[in-house]
Amino acid sequence: MFLLPSLVSTLTVLLLLSTLLLAATEDYYNLLGLSKTASDREIKRAYRTLSKKYHPDKNPNNSSAHAKFVEVAEAYEALSDSNLRKIYDQYGHEGLKQHQQGQRGGGGHHDPFDLFSRFFGGGGHFGHGGGQRRGPDMEVRMQLPLKDFYNGRETEFTVEKQQICEDCEGSGSADGVVETCQKCGGRGAVIQKHMLAPGIFQQVQMQCDGCGGKGKSIKHACPVCGGARVVRRPVTLTAVIEKGMPKGTRLRFENEADESPDYVAGDMVLTLQEQEPKLGEEESAKTDGTFFRRKDNDLWWKEVLSLREAWMGGWTRNLTHLDGHVVRLSRERGQVVQPGQVDTVKGEGMPIYHEGHLHEHHDGDEFGKLYVEYMVVLPDQMEKPMEKDFWALWEKWRLKKGIDLGKDSGRPSAAPHDEL
Ligand SMILES: [Zn+2]
Ligand SMILES: [Zn+2]
Repeated sequence: MFLLPSLVSTLTVLLLLSTLLLAATEDYYNLLGLSKTASDREIKRAYRTLSKKYHPDKNPNNSSAHAKFVEVAEAYEALSDSNLRKIYDQYGHEGLKQHQQGQRGGGGHHDPFDLFSRFFGGGGHFGHGGGQRRGPDMEVRMQLPLKDFYNGRETEFTVEKQQICEDCEGSGSADGVVETCQKCGGRGAVIQKHMLAPGIFQQVQMQCDGCGGKGKSIKHACPVCGGARVVRRPVTLTAVIEKGMPKGTRLRFENEADESPDYVAGDMVLTLQEQEPKLGEEESAKTDGTFFRRKDNDLWWKEVLSLREAWMGGWTRNLTHLDGHVVRLSRERGQVVQPGQVDTVKGEGMPIYHEGHLHEHHDGDEFGKLYVEYMVVLPDQMEKPMEKDFWALWEKWRLKKGIDLGKDSGRPSAAPHDEL
């Protein structure tokens, strides 16, 4: 292999830098991106996220990511244990180190891959190739109002899933002792001999009834999972709905499907669906926008005009959009709107979502169009004098200016009537 000298020196500098960075251990809270008051749940969540991010399987040939992976595991082990956390908060790294040396005579940490497998199952590695078994993906659906697709939102959701038992860390044993099954010697199967006829035997392989085929036996089953190694429990995850995401968007939560010590957890896939519009309870939710219809990046709205407005003009409407801002529709006096006419309002449709990256246009935000379709309602009741006035007015002008639509249409004249 040939390396240019300059590249070699760059590499050396990089290596030196990373060594220097490693020498000063980063504050555990900083490392996990947490504040000193972080809850246990937040600590767990931070570990889940960061351990996946820095896992060596995802960062091949990246020694600084590997180091981070180890540090994140150390930080989690210290902060997830209330006793160790207290010591760390008070005495810092040094205090913790001394405590651990006193405890275990030499100290040292657990294998970070072990910790990883307690969260995600398997042998501490991702299931992409490498012979690791991978569990099935999990499908979840969420109904959201159009407003959330327009404004974007971070929302928590809770699903029940199979999780590795925390009490026994997936061993199934109350005391952590898991023995190889005596009966099958860990093979999970036993050979039985059947005598078919005197002196003639058939050998049959059967599942070991001592361990149920697992090859391992537990004397004291974990009281939480009853030896099953897993429990079904609700988990709460956070979904980030970005402005303008199309409906049907599938958000993938890596390794968040059912967990098992026997395989690496698959992904949880959350499908975003659009909820049927309904009037919200709160005043702020009662916007016209609630009833917009979405078509890709565009929105549709039906506006109702009276006969007078449609014909004579001279009106304004304030349409409250999905984020509360107002879109003004109007016509000057004398401007006619035909029934079914559609106005196109640029920039008032949905925000345009660009998958994977923020768009780099700086001409303001990008939005689709809003189409406003007009409907005209005619009065179906009039007071007698009013009706008379109108009739007279129509008669006067019809005789002067009126167009006979029947004649004008060019259709053949009406079919002859059957006079009976
Ligand atoms: Zn057995
Ligand atoms: Zn258990």
